[in-house]
Amino acid sequence: MGGIASFLSGCTTSLVQAQLSSNPQLHSPNCEYHTESASVGIYHFRFSEANKKDLVKVYGHKVHKLVAEPLKKMIRAARSQGIDLKIASAFRSINHQEGIIKRKKEDGTSLKQIYFFSAPSGFSEHHTGLAIDFYPVNSKFEYSATYRWLTQNADKYGFVQTFTESNANKTGVSVESWHWKYIGHPQARELLMNMGCYT
Ligand SMILES: [Zn+2]
Repeated sequence: MGGIASFLSGCTTSLVQAQLSSNPQLHSPNCEYHTESASVGIYHFRFSEANKKDLVKVYGHKVHKLVAEPLKKMIRAARSQGIDLKIASAFRSINHQEGIIKRKKEDGTSLKQIYFFSAPSGFSEHHTGLAIDFYPVNSKFEYSATYRWLTQNADKYGFVQTFTESNANKTGVSVESWHWKYIGHPQARELLMNMGCYT
């Protein structure tokens, strides 16, 4: 076992598997991954950038219009229960992501370190405008009441965590308790067509 073939054969499971089997067109046939990060054992999959006209602002952050209402509802519900759910980052353009990676390379950060924490440009769920990082973006989030609330409630609003422990084991990407994406609408799942490779 091992290698990319066995990795890809196990790359669509659970909820997403169920969605994909009824909507095979949602799944990119070969989970197109970024080759430079794969060369250091880390798998990031391609996502398209949202059209500018589909982006709207929620609490000052650009998101895809499909996620705006459910996101606002979820934040309001959390706050009504004393949970201060705050957006740290949402839509990021391919250009912006390219700048992040470029700066890290110029700083002499190793490829393994770079791609453990960051997606290559063109390979981030944030390009779709459907992925949200909640505040604070660090390992303490996992132990917060906010994270506990999300694990118990986010699915009611159509959100799932991407970089879970099991996902991290498969892809080599860092666990990210703060990174959630909206899959509560068929069109959102279509825009996140490569999510099946992650979860
Ligand atoms: Zn994120």
